[in-house]
Amino acid sequence: MPAMTRAVVLLSGGLDSTVTMARAKEEGYMLYPLSFDYGQRHKKELECAGKIARYYEAQEHKILKIDLGQIGGSALTDVSIAIPEKRDLEEIGEDIPATYVPDRNTILHTLALGYAEVMKADAIFIGANALDYSGYPDCRPEYFEAFQKVAELGTKAGVEGRAIVIKYPLINMTKAEIVKEGTRLNVPFHLTWSCYYGQEKACGKCDSCLLRMKGFKEAGITDPIEYIKSGGGA
Ligand SMILES: [Zn+2]
Repeated sequence: MPAMTRAVVLLSGGLDSTVTMARAKEEGYMLYPLSFDYGQRHKKELECAGKIARYYEAQEHKILKIDLGQIGGSALTDVSIAIPEKRDLEEIGEDIPATYVPDRNTILHTLALGYAEVMKADAIFIGANALDYSGYPDCRPEYFEAFQKVAELGTKAGVEGRAIVIKYPLINMTKAEIVKEGTRLNVPFHLTWSCYYGQEKACGKCDSCLLRMKGFKEAGITDPIEYIKSGGGA
């Protein structure tokens, strides 16, 4: 790999995107994390993303503002829609839950593609995961294969034969495998935030908390963040 190879890393401040950031660093890329202030319920994950970007001494941390709340239609952007809680782990992923934000990932990935082209980045790293996930259609491998085509066909860089490579290294990992990978890479788990709520402690009841807790438990590793209810981590 030539020197000064750049990667835009989608950094939400959560577990998966932080492990993905660590992977991009391990592969030798200069890091250009990108976060979105998209009208989500709370800003805590953005604060975490900022801390993680500083931890990794990123070249530049870009936060793009885009108000998906104007479209609404999701529990994450409309406080009048309830966030599902205390679901069975078997239930999670079977249907598309109220926390699905209509077309969010395609909207955000497209913005990342434009940013990556301007920054002359060679790759975009995305921490999507299709195993222990919430059932979102835009987290599946076939979706990312199609998005790679968009990068090849829809950008100047692609037409000129230097298409930006879409990387999604966690796509086939379980949450436990992601936690183990993060441990191998010395990821600062204490800086990450997964909960759909932005309280001082994680709720321990939303799908995102439940999947995270399951991952740490199965990996046999203690989750350093605090939960409101007992039973966080291993
Ligand atoms: Zn939660």
